[in-house]
Amino acid sequence: MSLRNIHLLGSPVLRQRAAEIATVDDEVRAVIADLFETMRFSKGVGLAANQVGIARRVAVVETDEQHAYALVNPVLVERAGSVKDEEGCLSIPDIFGDVERAERVVVEAGDEHGKRRRIEGTGLLARAMQHEIDHLDGILFIDRVGPLKRRRLIKEWEKSRKGQTGYIKELAAEGAAQS
Ligand SMILES: [Zn+2]
Repeated sequence: MSLRNIHLLGSPVLRQRAAEIATVDDEVRAVIADLFETMRFSKGVGLAANQVGIARRVAVVETDEQHAYALVNPVLVERAGSVKDEEGCLSIPDIFGDVERAERVVVEAGDEHGKRRRIEGTGLLARAMQHEIDHLDGILFIDRVGPLKRRRLIKEWEKSRKGQTGYIKELAAEGAAQS
């Protein structure tokens, strides 16, 4: 297992539609393990493969110890209700906006052994799964806040970068230095 570098807003891979995974093999399992490690290190509740530069349909979510899931080729099969709440993203650090999402969802996805199962979620889990499935389709939460707010958030993000260039947050080196 190792930490992966996180791609930030501006990196083209975040806008790609990730490709279906044909077989859950050791390589996919290694990506899943790294996604979990990188998400936990970054104190996030979800992370999609696009965010570490891999355009394949796999993501992880973890809202508490009992609710940690690998999502391989996830599909939203049921959605109900609607709720607006604040959201952020590890690919757009320190930027937050209110996003309307389904209150309850059922997601069908493969696990780390390729076994399909249904995961029902409400509240934060429902929000996290919708956010990660969006990532696999090249969609970011700032695309769901309305055009004016979107422009404001992007401006805020650019300002927070203080002229920094590059769209990769080097976690791999940071993690190595800390361990
Ligand atoms: Zn995100």
